Amino acid sequence: MKCDTYIVEESLLVEELSSISASRPRVLLQAPDGLKKLYDCLGGFLKKVRDVEVYYSASPSFGACDIPLEEVALLRPDLVVHVGHAKYPLAEVEPPLRVVYVPVYYDVTPRTESLLEIEGLLGSRSWRRVAVVSPLTERLAAQRIADYLSSRGFEIREAWDRPILGCDYRSVIALASSVDGFILVSGGLFHALGAALYTDNLLAYDPYREKVWDPSVEARKLVRGRVYTVIRLRNQPLRRAVVIAGARPGQFRPSVLSMVAKLMEKIGVEYVVTTVSYLTLDRLLTIDETFRPDFIVVTSCPRLPLDDFHDFHKPVLTPGELAMLVWGVEKYVFPW
Ligand code: SF4
Repeated sequence: MKCDTYIVEESLLVEELSSISASRPRVLLQAPDGLKKLYDCLGGFLKKVRDVEVYYSASPSFGACDIPLEEVALLRPDLVVHVGHAKYPLAEVEPPLRVVYVPVYYDVTPRTESLLEIEGLLGSRSWRRVAVVSPLTERLAAQRIADYLSSRGFEIREAWDRPILGCDYRSVIALASSVDGFILVSGGLFHALGAALYTDNLLAYDPYREKVWDPSVEARKLVRGRVYTVIRLRNQPLRRAVVIAGARPGQFRPSVLSMVAKLMEKIGVEYVVTTVSYLTLDRLLTIDETFRPDFIVVTSCPRLPLDDFHDFHKPVLTPGELAMLVWGVEKYVFPW
């Protein structure tokens, strides 16, 4: 099915919806802000499948890690429809309700000029064996690039069954030893910057802006800044910390919390654990004013310290950076 410029994989959704026994099921639709424009189309589709009562979550949604539990507790839907991501693969806690994950794919064919530019850049780097990776939404564009490069004689590797997430680059790690380099197909800086933490041999293609670019300079700058923060902390007395636990199913990580506990014990730092659904600047300021810690560790989304709070007036660390603080800083550790 097509909604706007996206292809929606609806088969699982139809299956789930049809299997609900309630005569008029209540459905909560949830999508990231960039995909909320599909709500009208998707809501209309649901009503064609069967008689349903549809609610549209206007809250932010940053991933399949982020199912809106407060809305679920009030609405008690028969089904939550999460749009745009596959089930969060790193979840330690399952959401306490029925969720169907509906993939949508940005339907774009890269322009010939972009394909030629990519091919030229691969040639200039003497890359013949190339891995093409992407988040789920950009998979179609990535497949089209892979097909083109394959037709031009490149050896292509892919991992379509393991889409990139901001905190999950296992496909990059798995393919790194068998390729000369990577093409990451994704919009904006977010995923490209994360991938560049794992490999220096990376080109990024943004299918929304038709732009090919090399994220390694940005990534090196980011890593230098993060390492500097850890080194500075190592050289000062540390007494008190705050550990932030996520209050979304995918962002609540008991195993990471227990790793953090051991690391804190190792350096003799006392700490408190706070919970929060969305960690924003005002929440962080409140937490800082409440507990006056020497530093803060975020165990919910590991991209928050890097992307949102890099400039906070106090060090805000990922669990990986806490490990560097305790064990040494030779190699940058991301995410935990
Ligand atoms: S990077 Fe953050 S928001 Fe994205 S999937 Fe991971 S935990 Fe969720």
